Amino acid sequence: MALKHYIPNITYKSIFEIDFLAYYEQGFRLVLLDIDNTIIKYDQALADTDTLKLLESIKTLGFEVILISNNNRKRVSLVMEQTKLKGVWFALKPLKKGFKKALKIATKDYPINEVINIGDQIMTDVKGGEKIGFFTILVHPIERGTDTRSTRINRFFERKIIKKIKSKYPALYEQRLKDYEEM
Ligand SMILES: [Mg+2]
Repeated sequence: MALKHYIPNITYKSIFEIDFLAYYEQGFRLVLLDIDNTIIKYDQALADTDTLKLLESIKTLGFEVILISNNNRKRVSLVMEQTKLKGVWFALKPLKKGFKKALKIATKDYPINEVINIGDQIMTDVKGGEKIGFFTILVHPIERGTDTRSTRINRFFERKIIKKIKSKYPALYEQRLKDYEEM
């Protein structure tokens, strides 16, 4: 796996900082959205009011939004119900399987270059999205303290990868990963 595949196209502090209108104008049409620590903390079952409003506004712009999570059916279907969004559980990110399923359940046949993949983890969300060729957005996790055990293991490898990126691509590190690492 090339080191470049672990570098997101862009990083934001939260989903609320993303200029979805600008992305729509650039031609993106499908948003694949991670759940845990991207739109909801691990220790909360449902999205808060601000997040629901944001999701509505993304849809209003004309985007289709699909949830894609490595978490289980119970967790994901509850959020699907609340947000009225389609979703994929046990997505097995960074493998392609779940992403392909998300593309399949979408209402249209979106070309890869119209897809934005948003998540809070380099080892799953960024790596998986980059492998397929989506535009990858990394967001700072809402609350690192709520990470599960398996996510903490991912974070361990994530720190190592970030270190490598820092030495090989210092400018990209500075621009896209420094704040993420130091938060
Ligand atoms: Mg996550």
